[in-house]
Amino acid sequence: MDPVIIPSVYRKPYVLSCHPDALPWPSLFLLPATMHCPFCGANDTKVIDSRLVAEGEQVRRRRECLACGERFTTFETAELVLPRLIKTDGSRQPFDEEKLRAGMQRALEKRPVSVERLESSLVHIKHKLRATGEREVKSLVVGELVMAELQKLDEVAYIRFASVYRRFQDLNEFREEIDRLAREPVKE
Ligand SMILES: [Zn+2]
Repeated sequence: MDPVIIPSVYRKPYVLSCHPDALPWPSLFLLPATMHCPFCGANDTKVIDSRLVAEGEQVRRRRECLACGERFTTFETAELVLPRLIKTDGSRQPFDEEKLRAGMQRALEKRPVSVERLESSLVHIKHKLRATGEREVKSLVVGELVMAELQKLDEVAYIRFASVYRRFQDLNEFREEIDRLAREPVKE
């Protein structure tokens, strides 16, 4: 099989991998409207082969650059792509489901919440992100979605996550959040 080159905004090509730290699938397919040749940067490329992969959810395209003649492969999806995240410093990052899951698992450690409930929370979050219809959303939006889901799952996990995520200004603020939760009626 040909080496897979991921063109687009990623400057350095990387290899598809099963390592858990690897970027999730959608991030590999966030391609710009114009396809630049990863070799010479020209945006005149010709599709020479196209077929469905990943159970029909992705299109694998073999492309040829009309300027330098190099060939490369892209994997593309449309609807399944999640918006990219705009960090507070303005940089953009692909949505990373594994990272999100790991963060929520950390918050839920030793808490009585089933894997199924965590997974359905992740589905809710992704659904809401796709429903924005945006190509990019502020990472704060994801943080707020996670907190809303954790609050439904488990209040201890919610506090754990919020205390890190919001970086409470001071102890009083943290205390107020705990007091606020203590006042709220117990769910379920
Ligand atoms: Zn080229």
